[in-house]
Amino acid sequence: MVESLYVHIPFCRQICPYCAFASVRDKHQDHDRYVSALCQEIRSSRYLINSDPLNTVFFGGGTPTQLNSANLAKILDTLNELCGIAPDAEITIEANPGSVDRKKMLSLLDLGFNRLSIGIQSFDTETLRKLGRSHTVNDAIDVFLVARDCGFKNINIDLMFSIPGVPEQVWQDSIRKGMELEPDHISTYGLIFEEGTPFAALRNSGRLIEVDEDQDAHQYEWIRREANRVGYVHYEVSNFSKPGYICRHNSVYWADKPYIGVGLSSHSYYYPKRWWNTRNLKIYVDKIEQDADVTEGEEELSNHTALRDRFWLGLRTHQGVRLTSREELILYRDTRFKDIEAMGRWEIINGFLRISPESFVLADSLAIEATEILEYELF
Ligand code: SF4
Repeated sequence: MVESLYVHIPFCRQICPYCAFASVRDKHQDHDRYVSALCQEIRSSRYLINSDPLNTVFFGGGTPTQLNSANLAKILDTLNELCGIAPDAEITIEANPGSVDRKKMLSLLDLGFNRLSIGIQSFDTETLRKLGRSHTVNDAIDVFLVARDCGFKNINIDLMFSIPGVPEQVWQDSIRKGMELEPDHISTYGLIFEEGTPFAALRNSGRLIEVDEDQDAHQYEWIRREANRVGYVHYEVSNFSKPGYICRHNSVYWADKPYIGVGLSSHSYYYPKRWWNTRNLKIYVDKIEQDADVTEGEEELSNHTALRDRFWLGLRTHQGVRLTSREELILYRDTRFKDIEAMGRWEIINGFLRISPESFVLADSLAIEATEILEYELF
């Protein structure tokens, strides 16, 4: 049964030069049409019709708060009519500084959003300029304080590290300023140069030099320690929360549970299938209006892929990945497993394989190790 829904809203005030998400420059005139198409996609989802009420709903993008309240209400009303949203559901909306004033903030709460995720990225003016962000440091602080004042009790802020040319003292001060606001949740990401973005073009032509691996690991480790020091739980490779504030929606992904995505480029998973929508806004809207399928691709997971995905996702979290009794037995018998266990990098507790937060930086390679050991005997 599907309990979680992702809703993609692609509009952004301007496009950041490192962004590889399905985002389009907001020209306002597209909103009503896009939302009508989105609602039609929701109504035609066989996974949502007659499903239990949703436990998590996540409006991401893009910048979902570019939509007016009437359009946001239309999407939520459609969900409520179709399958319902549980009374204690986590309902998140992403926002960017400068895109939400007090009136809009109150309206978001009124609509039922109870978790706000703010794309701040940095509390340093020069760094925001380097990143091509359209907001200022004051916008970032203002939107956070207004959200708190209006009544948001669950706020995430996104902060970026490994940004070329930013001195150590500057990025450390930026992260500290973020923590001083005491958000309930912090997501931190090293800047990635995704092919096809202006930043990747600058890197490829030698005009922008990526932060090297050692520096990246150093910055990550510093943030991890600092977050722990001020009381955050490092519960997933890139995520920290105050106790009780882990992101329930993203935890569904990491636990390898089913979820449905609607909107441009959204991804869905219902074992044994993954599928995803077109990234082209015109095609998305046109096709829905013609009652055509907007799926761009799908894949049926082989046993190998399903196992690898389960470990790759699960080992990113402090809870770890649930093992079958056979998997547990295979791992315990294996010398490679024991060597890594002796190094303190992972352990099996109550049927879960979990890695220590100090080893989160190695999560991907440890997932490969575990699946290689298991695949040899299982398949
Ligand atoms: S605001 Fe976010 S989604 Fe929009 S362009 Fe910038 S990084 Fe991409």
